[in-house]
Amino acid sequence: MRVSIQNLVKKFGETVALKNISLEIEPQELFFLLGPSGCGKTTLLRTIAGFYQPDDGTLRFGDKTMNGVPPHQRNTGMVFQNYALWPHMTVADNVAYGLEVRKVSKTEMKQRIQEALAIVQMEPYASRMPNQLSGGQQQRVALARALVIKPDVLLLDEPLSNLDAKLRLEMREEIRRIHEQTRITTIYVTHDQKEALSLAKRMAILRDGRIEQIGDPRTVYRAPNSRFVADFIGETNWLSGTVTATDADGLQVRTESSLFQAPPQSALRIGQSVSLGFRPEAVEIGEQSINQMKASIAHVTYLGEVEQYELQVGPQVRIKACELNPLAIRQPGEEMAIFVRPHNLIVHATETGSTPSPA
Ligand code: ATP
Repeated sequence: MRVSIQNLVKKFGETVALKNISLEIEPQELFFLLGPSGCGKTTLLRTIAGFYQPDDGTLRFGDKTMNGVPPHQRNTGMVFQNYALWPHMTVADNVAYGLEVRKVSKTEMKQRIQEALAIVQMEPYASRMPNQLSGGQQQRVALARALVIKPDVLLLDEPLSNLDAKLRLEMREEIRRIHEQTRITTIYVTHDQKEALSLAKRMAILRDGRIEQIGDPRTVYRAPNSRFVADFIGETNWLSGTVTATDADGLQVRTESSLFQAPPQSALRIGQSVSLGFRPEAVEIGEQSINQMKASIAHVTYLGEVEQYELQVGPQVRIKACELNPLAIRQPGEEMAIFVRPHNLIVHATETGSTPSPA
């Protein structure tokens, strides 16, 4: 089922929670809504579910306009962060609930409950009560309850945030598997960028009720279209710079710590102030003819799989870098040469009101 959203506006009194949102979610897509607290992602999901009516704009499922259609007639399945299972009902009865409302026959009901529990691998638990299940198992039941009605659109509102880190990773894989098996158009709200990067086909990053960027995970991570997106979707080192040359081959940017060669960008002019960004993992240790910096280790943090360094690269400038499985343990005070490859640089015109400052 395709979900088409056009110029959607939702207000709560003075607060405009959604400001002219337009978005096309393809049939069978696993689409993520991502953004910091208060950006409007839950409001958008609830408007799609029909719990909120928009103040303006249109929402369509396929060719059908959904404005004014009550939630129970939209054929959406919803999974909440807190599972929202009925505590006095068994697993099977919880899953049956949506079918009872839809007046499905007893025989069909039995078969569909079994199918839904099989998808989430919870068949052996059908007669247990929710308080006899772990958090992960309860979330599987909540998923089964949403899937049993064969929804056209599955809506997931932070479904994994109540689980511990290891279980969250396991359930991520489960959600991927279930999506691949069912191919239901799924809209997934989270503020966890790792969850979105690892699962999404595409994602929208929201900021203050607007869409800041829509794209596949690699594009959003590697080519964020604003500093806000870059910072939200991972760590970024930012240096202040000025464009000193532009041609078809690339851009030259002077910063306090070095002269950088970056990929060409037609929108930038000589003399323009820019923010030059790069991810900690894009910092490489060693000599290189371009984009070289002299660095001194200010701080080392051991994170298990990587060592994270805070590096002084200019009197006023510190950056973050990391090294996977290093050969030797590096100490604060150690000097080294580092570089960043041009294709790993992000260059944006300096946003007014957000002058990049040294880390
Ligand atoms: P979080 O990650 O914290 O859940 P969110 O991105 O889902 O945040 P929303 O819950 O959609 O954000 O809220 C968007 C804005 O709308 C916020 O400013 C919030 O305070 C406001 N808002 C949300 N629901 C209501 C409501 N029922 N009444 C009044 N204001 C609301």
